[in-house]
Amino acid sequence: MDTIFGKIIRREIPADIVHEDDHVIAFKDVNPQAPVHLLIIPKNEEIPTLNDADEAQQGLLGHMLLTASKLAADHGIAESGYRLIMNCNKEGGQTVYHLHLHLLGGRQMKGF
Ligand code: AMP
Repeated sequence: MDTIFGKIIRREIPADIVHEDDHVIAFKDVNPQAPVHLLIIPKNEEIPTLNDADEAQQGLLGHMLLTASKLAADHGIAESGYRLIMNCNKEGGQTVYHLHLHLLGGRQMKGF
């Protein structure tokens, strides 16, 4: 299933890309909910939701988390703090069915 994130990976539509390596790409969310709002996505595998990931993707999932912490440091929010969110399916609020991790920071997070 192709998504708008697939188009970003293939450079068919523009995005403000802040990081790319062999496994993931990270870019600014087009509708930011915080001063820093990045999306970290797998770039070689199209995994629609976390439900579709299995043990073969364990390393990739860990890499997404470690990339988030590095990007938090790069964007100066590691010490002040940040929030990571991965929405799954409709009631989780997922709208794009290409696995992604939200990195949010730069303001006080509320809720929970
Ligand atoms: P989710 O609701 O967890 O599926 O998150 C999808 C996110 O993708 C939302 O925060 C959108 O603002 C963001 N988004 C959708 N299209 C784009 C795009 N073309 N470039 C950057 N972010 C996007």
